[in-house]
Amino acid sequence: MLLGCIADDLTGATDLALMLTRAGMRTVQVMDVPGPGSALDGFDAVVVALKTRTSPVAEAVDLSLKSCDALLALGAKQIFFKYCSTFDSTDQGNIGPVADALMARLKTDFTIACPAFPANKRTIYLGHLFVGDMLLADSPMKDHPLTPMRDSNLVSVLQRQTKHKVGLVPFTTVTKGADTIAEAFHSARARGDRYVVVDALTDMNLYDIGTALADMKLITGGSGIALGLPSNFVRRGQMTATPAPTTMSAANGRAAIIAGSCSEATRGQVAAAIAADIPAFQIDPLALVSGGIDIDGLVAQILAAPSARPVLVYSSADPADVRAAQSELGRDRAGHFVEQALAAIAKRLVAAGFTRLIVAGGETSGAVVQGLGIASLEIGPEIDPGVPWTRAVGRDLVLALKSGNFGGRDFFLKAWNKLS
Ligand code: ADP
Repeated sequence: MLLGCIADDLTGATDLALMLTRAGMRTVQVMDVPGPGSALDGFDAVVVALKTRTSPVAEAVDLSLKSCDALLALGAKQIFFKYCSTFDSTDQGNIGPVADALMARLKTDFTIACPAFPANKRTIYLGHLFVGDMLLADSPMKDHPLTPMRDSNLVSVLQRQTKHKVGLVPFTTVTKGADTIAEAFHSARARGDRYVVVDALTDMNLYDIGTALADMKLITGGSGIALGLPSNFVRRGQMTATPAPTTMSAANGRAAIIAGSCSEATRGQVAAAIAADIPAFQIDPLALVSGGIDIDGLVAQILAAPSARPVLVYSSADPADVRAAQSELGRDRAGHFVEQALAAIAKRLVAAGFTRLIVAGGETSGAVVQGLGIASLEIGPEIDPGVPWTRAVGRDLVLALKSGNFGGRDFFLKAWNKLS
């Protein structure tokens, strides 16, 4: 095992595992801190999917350190802390505190922070994160239910989360290539920076940054930064690249889409699925809590829907409705109720013979995978940038775990075509 990865949410872990698989690494994703003697031989990369993006800081730090220790024990040569390409966090964390703790554990005093993912229109210029043609703070991320992002300057955002000094490697340096980037890392470190946010506008920039990271013990960033990491190991003769899969076989059975993301992309995908007459069942958090939604009754209705098409179960709502639910129930309680309801529904559908699931939303996917008791995922073909089909190892179940913001408008309609 060469690369040990710790992801702060499940869909982010899958996105990273896909990136590594596409770049030729044999990659497995595990849902928990791997215990001693875990059967993870034969993989170049192991991605531990935590659910720590919005958990209390101490818990996020503790689980990340345990994952780091386990990955080192499995032989990891480099540790990668993966977070969202929109740097989802609050002033309390968890990116800064987790990265601080990992640096201390790895006895290193320098790392980078680079969430850029140009294929998904996340770019960084002069430390400012853009989502498409908008600054982060103007993008729909300003209304995220759990981590509203209202400052686009990642140097400032990260600086509020760590007592260590945060600097910048600007685009003018990055564009000169890997050697210049590596020199910039040395000078920043000599200046006393412990973090540098690194600008990146293109995949070429990410490759070059990746090359410059060959000897860094700890890397932090989005999945994009993983683009350039596998070739470091190939160049050193530590692995040979393995071709990525193009289809995934799935057992016969019904299909469902479970959407708990309120992100703009997911709301568009829900609307497109409804417009295509996919049978749709809405979960309203207020109705859920007041007892207005009976899960048994809802599952019975879902099972009675025509079996030839997928069914859609969604709580996705626009920002005004999310705010209304949150002001009545509290942000975390509203999220928790919805996640638990969607997980319970997914569990019953799988028990009733569903074998193909799309789940939209990072937190939502975490709850569903936990509810289904899935321990590890094998990575299949890419559906849209950052989202692969996966197979629950040892089960007749394939899942596409989609980060809320990812995927084209027709994602819920076209994803099934990659299954055989
Ligand atoms: P994303 O990947 O878009 O961030 P997540 O699933 O990670 O999606 O986060 C969305 C959060 O919003 C979850 O905790 C979910 O339970 C919660 N949520 C979903 N629907 C609603 C709603 N209608 N009102 C309030 N919160 C909701």
